[in-house]
Amino acid sequence: MAFFAKWLEKFRKATAEYGYLCDSCGKEIFTYPVYRFCEECESKMPRPQTKFCPKCGRETITDGICLDCKSNPPKFEQGIVPFVYRGKAASLVNRMKNGSPRLALYFGEEMGRAFAAQYKGNAAQPLLVVPVPMTEKAKKERGYNQAERLAEAVCTELNKLGFQAEQDNEVLEKRRETAQQKHMDFRSRADNVAGAYHVHKRNACKEKIILLIDDIMTTGATSGECTLRLLGAGASSVYFLAAVALAERK
Ligand SMILES: [Zn+2]
Ligand SMILES: [Zn+2]
Repeated sequence: MAFFAKWLEKFRKATAEYGYLCDSCGKEIFTYPVYRFCEECESKMPRPQTKFCPKCGRETITDGICLDCKSNPPKFEQGIVPFVYRGKAASLVNRMKNGSPRLALYFGEEMGRAFAAQYKGNAAQPLLVVPVPMTEKAKKERGYNQAERLAEAVCTELNKLGFQAEQDNEVLEKRRETAQQKHMDFRSRADNVAGAYHVHKRNACKEKIILLIDDIMTTGATSGECTLRLLGAGASSVYFLAAVALAERK
C-alpha cells in the first residue's frame, strides 16, 4: 500500500505539470484543458459585476465612465481586465508574483478571452503583445517577470481564437527602480514612474496595435507612462490588459 501511495504521489506530481490538478488548490479535475481551476475555485474568482468602466475596465459604483477616467482620461484605447483585485483573485495574483508563475497561464488565458470578447477593431490586423518590463535587477531577484509569463499565455490564447498575436519582451525597457505606489496619490504616482520606462525597439512599434500587459491595474500611472512612450514611438493604438484591477473607490 505504501508503495502504491508513493507511486500515486509521484504520478500526481508528474501530471500536475500537465494540468490534471486544479492550478489553485491542487484538487484533481477532469475538465482540463478547458478549465485550469476546479469548479469551487472558479466560482470564487471575483469577476467585475454588472457595472464596469468602458474606458479602463474597472468595476464601478455607477454606470458609465469612472471618476478617475473622467479626471485623468487614460491614454490607452481601452483597459480590459477579467478580475477584480480582491479575495481569491488578489491572493492568487500575489502567489503568481511570489514563486508560482504557473498561475500566469490561467490569468493570461482569461485576459485573452476578455480581450477577444470586448475588442471592436479588425480581428485580421496583427497585434503586438508587450509586457510591462521590470529592471534587470528586479527580474533577477524574482527569477521571472510575471508580466512576460502573462503575455505568453495571452498570445497563445489569442492565436487559438483566430487573432494574429506576436509577443516582444524587448520593446520596452525599465531603466530605474520605482517606489511602491500603494499609498501614493495620482500625482506622486505619475512623478514616480516618469522617465522610468523607455522604448528600446522603436521600429517595432510603428503603426502597430499594441496590447500592453501587466499583472495589476491600480490607478494607471505605470500603464499611462508606458502607453505614452509606445504612442510616442508610433504605435497606432494601445490596449491595456491586466489580470486584476482595483475596484473604483467609494
Ligand atoms: Zn481548486
Ligand atoms: Zn475608468
